[in-house]
Amino acid sequence: MANKIAVIGAGHVGEMTACHLVMKNLGDVVLTDIVEGIPQGKALDMWEQAPVEGYDCFLTGTINLADIKGSDIVVVTAGVPRKPGMSRDDLLSVNYKIMAELAPKITEYCPDSILIIVSNPLDIMVATANKLGGFPKERIMGMAGILDTARFRSFIAMELDVSVESIQAMVLGGHGDSMVPITRFTTVAGVPIGELMPQDRIDAIVERTRMGGGEIVKLLGTSAYYAPAAAVVEMVESILLDKKKILPCAALLEGEYGVEGIFMGVPVKLGAKGIEQIIELKLEAEEQAMLDKSVEHVKRLMDEMEKLA
Ligand code: NAD
Repeated sequence: MANKIAVIGAGHVGEMTACHLVMKNLGDVVLTDIVEGIPQGKALDMWEQAPVEGYDCFLTGTINLADIKGSDIVVVTAGVPRKPGMSRDDLLSVNYKIMAELAPKITEYCPDSILIIVSNPLDIMVATANKLGGFPKERIMGMAGILDTARFRSFIAMELDVSVESIQAMVLGGHGDSMVPITRFTTVAGVPIGELMPQDRIDAIVERTRMGGGEIVKLLGTSAYYAPAAAVVEMVESILLDKKKILPCAALLEGEYGVEGIFMGVPVKLGAKGIEQIIELKLEAEEQAMLDKSVEHVKRLMDEMEKLA
């Protein structure tokens, strides 16, 4: 039987995610939203491209959340995106309400699923879903680190005029401007980037990566969706095919990196059981200090979230 993947929120990120999932033949997709006609229309349109593209994965569009019942994976993209001038944190109160409503229902309909949260502010939305949905920590995670790392890799590729595929990188921390691109673990075909470009260029690329979401918002008037959807699909693929890829994802930390009780971006092993391992990198003092700053930011937002509860 085909895998069943629910995508909640049929906006920009949700529709692109659904499209990539079926194009990669990863499973049948149930696309849900609250706006009548939108999920149904998009799902039908994507099913009608199946004969041309050559996939058999079926898509259902619905405004009845109960139709996600029995999904193996649930991806939550429901929520408001940023507009120019806004930070991800500005979305907290409006998206908190949406997540608070969805989380218990996801638990009710898909108690055995693996939950991937995309809505912003990311680390806090995963924590909200966890608090109100009660998922075991290996089966709940957030997508951000793959996107941040992809942006970092894409900028390095442009700078050095080499294939993106030759570049390995790692971005840790919260999904915000305090994210921590670890340049020591960033290599081109195994060669550290410090040997390939001057420090001022590395610093400029790190800064562009930190502000990468805002750069797109400024251009588009809304937040990114091509790269975010591709990042979600890499997570789904690693889980459903039990690939055990090491990918940066927001995971619940319980002592790792000296952090207790918050969700934040760290490298994890993603396989059939979800987060099968949290990889603890040995950080240098300066890297740990940047991570601590990011932790403080996430904690401050967590306090704000608790006040909304
Ligand atoms: P969008 O406005 O295009 O789509 C959001 C959709 O959610 C809309 O269709 C809306 O009707 C729907 N929705 C609202 N409440 C719902 C509910 N209760 N149930 C089901 N659907 C509901 O926005 P987008 O560009 O797709 O972004 C979605 C979210 O993802 C935003 O919060 C955005 O900030 C976030 N995002 C996160 C990342 C990341 O790296 N984690 C990247 C890009 C976007």
